[in-house]
Amino acid sequence: MPQRRDGFNIGFTGFILGMALAGLSSAATTAPAPGQQLPNACPDLSFTADGKWKVNDNARPKPEKVAPKSEAELAASAKAPAGAIILFDGKDLSAWKPTKWKLENGYIEVVPKTGYLVSEQSFGSCRLHVEWWTPNPSVGTLQMRGNSGVFLMSHYEVQVLDTYDNPTYADGIAGAIYGQSPPSVNPIRPPGQWQYYDIVFHRPIFDAAGKLTTPATMTVDFNGIRVQDNFALEGITSHGRRHGYDVHPDKQPLSLQDHGCVVRFRNIWLEPIAD
Ligand code: MG
Repeated sequence: MPQRRDGFNIGFTGFILGMALAGLSSAATTAPAPGQQLPNACPDLSFTADGKWKVNDNARPKPEKVAPKSEAELAASAKAPAGAIILFDGKDLSAWKPTKWKLENGYIEVVPKTGYLVSEQSFGSCRLHVEWWTPNPSVGTLQMRGNSGVFLMSHYEVQVLDTYDNPTYADGIAGAIYGQSPPSVNPIRPPGQWQYYDIVFHRPIFDAAGKLTTPATMTVDFNGIRVQDNFALEGITSHGRRHGYDVHPDKQPLSLQDHGCVVRFRNIWLEPIAD
């Protein structure tokens, strides 16, 4: 199950080492070839693997706000294709483990502190569509303003957050792969409107000895705008500190996060794809 991990403070020596390595690294934003190891220029886990930024770094530049595509423009692509696995059609929660979240008016709403919403079925590599909504007027500040998350395989989070007007750190805004990769731009709609994610996820592959041979990758379209382009994940998404990979089965449930905030979801469907 996904767990938030507490941040920690690195010592001065670690900080200096990290800063030195930051100057030597280069960005790696596309997937390594199968079998290629992840870039790991920075042994200090409070930095991203390329050593360029601290995890959850407030100094990391915020993506530029851009216009989203309209719901009308996205109507065709939001419709589940024939053969897709319908996880939530606005009425039926049978694809999910029993939950205390609220089902009403065609959406499912987080009931804070009742736990994650977890799919009955497990999935690996997939194409996923999910729509989400945060309250208007906004409630809370920074990471407590409409925080939830889409956890592929219950381990790899695409952040959900009201970041229409929110100065929180770049790798924690909507469209971010949490703690690893800010979205390239910010095409969020105002709170109180539905936001669309279309995610192509390739699972990580481990060999028989449990060694990572191919990292997970994600491509994310946020309101029809590409914000993550085949990003190779550094491991499980975690707070304040890089975690690396834990070996896990080839298929795991999809989870939606209870971060203590009221967030709604609707129209969730998925298609398994080849690894
Ligand atoms: Mg979250």
